Amino acid sequence: MEHKCLNCGVAGEEVILLSCIYRGEPLYVCLKCLPVLVQSAQA
Ligand SMILES: [Zn+2]
Repeated sequence: MEHKCLNCGVAGEEVILLSCIYRGEPLYVCLKCLPVLVQSAQA
């Protein structure tokens, strides 16, 4: 199965993707979008 960044949609073959769990669902985010995700989580 192909994993993509939930924010920018880049594929896991191109960049490092971090896996995380949100409300029981597995999500993937690339390093570039991680700060964006952290900011939105704090807002
Ligand atoms: Zn991304």
